[in-house]
Amino acid sequence: MLDGRLAHQVGNWPTRPANLEPGKAISSTKQLLEISMMASSLYYLYSDRVYEELTMEEILEAIDLYANIRTPAESGAPQISPDTIFYLCRELIEHKALIPYCPSCEVRYYSSVEQRVRNACPFCRKVGVGDFGNSEH
Ligand SMILES: [Zn+2]
Repeated sequence: MLDGRLAHQVGNWPTRPANLEPGKAISSTKQLLEISMMASSLYYLYSDRVYEELTMEEILEAIDLYANIRTPAESGAPQISPDTIFYLCRELIEHKALIPYCPSCEVRYYSSVEQRVRNACPFCRKVGVGDFGNSEH
């Protein structure tokens, strides 16, 4: 809290209820693309450390980066709330979610054991390096 205001008020973040299981909620490529922008922001800043514990400050920095790079038109899905992002970081630590690399598109993306769309790159739909079901690492 800063002078009585909560972080989301200071940062003008979206305030929606937290999704405790972000992976499970993914049922479209649009949503996968949106969460992939967040996941690749995390990976860009912290590399494989995303699978260990990140500090609150580090997560906030990644949220900042994500909020700056995303454009609403790009994925068509709403911006992910900071609360949900904290649960996303928890999934990474528990290895319920990964951030594989797609060599064709040269991007990283989000992949959860629990998502309801195929585990693959949201752009080209190929299974990337380090994804579930890909033995290539
Ligand atoms: Zn791809």
